[in-house]
Amino acid sequence: MTDGKTNFINGEWVASQGGATFASTNPANTDQTLGVYARSDQRDVAAAVAAAKAAYPTWRKTPAPARGALLTKVGRLLEERKELFSQAMVDEMGKVLVEARGDVQEAIDMAHYMAAFGRLPNGSVVPSERPDIHCSARRVPVGVVGLITPWNFPIAVPTWKMFPALLAGNTVVWKPAEDTPGMAVLLVQLLADAGIPAGVVNLVTGYGEEAGAALVEAEGVATISFTGSTSVGKQIAGRCGQLMKRVSCELGGKNAIVVLDDADIELAIKGCLWSAFGTAGQRCTAASRLIVDSKIKAHFTARLVEETGKLRMAPGADPAAQIGPVVNRTQLERIQGYVAIGQAEGATVLTGGTPLTDAPLDKGCFYAPTIFDNMRPPMRIAQEEIFGPVTGIITVDGLDEALAIANGTGYGLSLSLYTANLRRGMRALDELESGIVYINLPTSGAEIQLPFGGVKNTGNGHREAGWMAMDWCTEWKAAYINY
Ligand code: NAP
Repeated sequence: MTDGKTNFINGEWVASQGGATFASTNPANTDQTLGVYARSDQRDVAAAVAAAKAAYPTWRKTPAPARGALLTKVGRLLEERKELFSQAMVDEMGKVLVEARGDVQEAIDMAHYMAAFGRLPNGSVVPSERPDIHCSARRVPVGVVGLITPWNFPIAVPTWKMFPALLAGNTVVWKPAEDTPGMAVLLVQLLADAGIPAGVVNLVTGYGEEAGAALVEAEGVATISFTGSTSVGKQIAGRCGQLMKRVSCELGGKNAIVVLDDADIELAIKGCLWSAFGTAGQRCTAASRLIVDSKIKAHFTARLVEETGKLRMAPGADPAAQIGPVVNRTQLERIQGYVAIGQAEGATVLTGGTPLTDAPLDKGCFYAPTIFDNMRPPMRIAQEEIFGPVTGIITVDGLDEALAIANGTGYGLSLSLYTANLRRGMRALDELESGIVYINLPTSGAEIQLPFGGVKNTGNGHREAGWMAMDWCTEWKAAYINY
């Protein structure tokens, strides 16, 4: 499906009505075009929303256990196609193979977890103040939901939204990231193969400012679930506020790992390497600040630099690759720009600090894992999301200063603290201002049975995953029955 007929509307693969297309390339070798996709406009979005609206009454009335059974089938098909999806993800967004498999596994887990919700309680019966009155409250679907998703988890993030929405009885219009349209096509074809009825899931590929903005505006879309940058999220949330649309935003992060003087340093280094450089730092949960106690800083820094030097950068398809390319040239330039800003601010590069230009990496968007020393909290590199394999060390004296600095950004997604002291760990759990706190673990590594999301500029209060995943895509309906 790479001939431009990549919109899936009412169960049919179609081209954009305007006939426009765009290409997707391999970030490990930008000379390689992977496919040609529909560049959708407002008319395509309107057609997709109309299809979702038409499918809604029947889907809503389909019993929840039957909707769950379909998700079980989706989960099984994902298991069968896990390797195909993982290889395609490596080519399209550059993730190394083991991480791509993890991305697909999250979708498999979510399918089975949500399938079970088809048979779980959907509300509660409460006592009435009056005799012979039955009082209850139950969740009901909101209608057509619009999903707008990023490229960094091209299967996990969309399914974390789509599966709860479908289980709850909503129908879907999805605009995936322009860097990963191929993954979206694979997923939607799988849903069709599993037997999801026509119109229940619709796909419009294309650009954010065109198809994405049209989906936000579209009449008949009851709620938007957006994952992406804080700047775009704020625009979308503002517009949804004006339109009185519900909106759920999962946005950027400026996550930190605190390493106290009593920490297991080797464990902390393992966690820092994964959090800072996994997925080439392109995770909302990436640790781009390492807050280290002055008593252990010299030893910690020497060991971290040593271990960073051993990381193997290669195209994700190489089985030995530990870090792949970043997603595109624009992102590579953005990262280089931040490294220059850090140097101008007075931070010093301990390792990395450049794109990799030796063959064969010169064909792709590879950036060396980079560690700054002398990062200070007010610096832009300590406050702004870089979204690349770049981290920096901030030196502190003791827990109080560490917690204050960890909390001292506009974001609040994932914060971690390494200590051998339970009392210090429990204090951090209470005082760290983030949606997710880890003690003696890296900032990345969410499990689907717990709520995922953040505070401050990271989100507007919604959570994905866990049983709270039902919140953004359902309304509560109260009932009073006089018998
Ligand atoms: P992005 O540029 O904000 O794009 C996200 C999605 O929004 C894409 O589908 C994009 O389309 C679309 N879009 C862009 N402009 C739009 C507009 N004006 N109206 C409607 N849609 C629009 O983010 P990204 O670079 O893809 O992803 C990286 C960001 O996502 C990082 O900030 C990361 O922290 C965040 N993220 C957060 C979480 C979380 O759960 N908190 C998880 C993963 C990623 P195009 O692709 O065509 O631009």
